Amino acid sequence: MTIITDEPCTSYARAGHPERPQRIAATVERLKSQTELALTWVAPGSVTDEQILRAHTPEMRARLAVPEDFDADTPFFENISGYARASVAAALDALKIARTGENVFSLMRPPGHHATREKSMGFCYLNNIAIAVLEALATGTKRVAVFDFDVHHGNGTEDILLNRPGLEFFSVHQHPAYPNTGAQNRGRNCFNYPVAPSATREVYRAALTHALGDLKHFRPDLVAVSAGFDAYARDPLADGPLLAEDFHWLGQTLRALNVPLFSLLEGGYSRDLPELVFAYLKGVEGK
Ligand SMILES: [Zn+2]
Repeated sequence: MTIITDEPCTSYARAGHPERPQRIAATVERLKSQTELALTWVAPGSVTDEQILRAHTPEMRARLAVPEDFDADTPFFENISGYARASVAAALDALKIARTGENVFSLMRPPGHHATREKSMGFCYLNNIAIAVLEALATGTKRVAVFDFDVHHGNGTEDILLNRPGLEFFSVHQHPAYPNTGAQNRGRNCFNYPVAPSATREVYRAALTHALGDLKHFRPDLVAVSAGFDAYARDPLADGPLLAEDFHWLGQTLRALNVPLFSLLEGGYSRDLPELVFAYLKGVEGK
């Protein structure tokens, strides 16, 4: 299993913001201190404007250099464009590694799944997973599935991938919750599995199982996973019911699809994030 990460992604922060550098730093520390998984550590490469502009407008890309907050959740940081591009580059590297048949996880910030075609929002500046799957299609993969198990709807990914041939998007999320989209399916290829905030663990697991069944039915050649760990029972940003063993099960179930697979970190704001990521990775590795 390869882990893609770098030091710079922990070097920007705003006091009190839940999307904080410790999410990555503590997870790196946890993964480096374990011996159950053999991990290879690599830093992200680079991304071209052409790759970014498959998913985003030129205006949005230019806006990243304007020193003003994007919204109340999404601050401007010096060099945020560079950090966002590194996170995209990690997603593109994850795609390349997945194509060799190896398991891979991008442990980077900022996350991406709320960034729409035209707008940075919800802690997300560029849509890492959308850019990676559009690259996959542009370079020969025929059928790509995106599976998003972050507790929040991947509105940005849906916005960018809507009705694109060769792509199907499956999102399991709490609704109502930020960003209040994802109540129904959209277009020909975006499938949403909303779960009520009061739902039990059994109900949440059933929605995940339903989505994974539909994904399997699509018969993808490649699966890209928006791995958010904020449906966890003790996450401070939502009311999900999941436990570490559920993330382990998700990893196992995705592994059992037996197609090239890569996962990118999205949300997950509890102190237990390192354990949840570790549980998921063990599942992906069949341990
Ligand atoms: Zn989230």
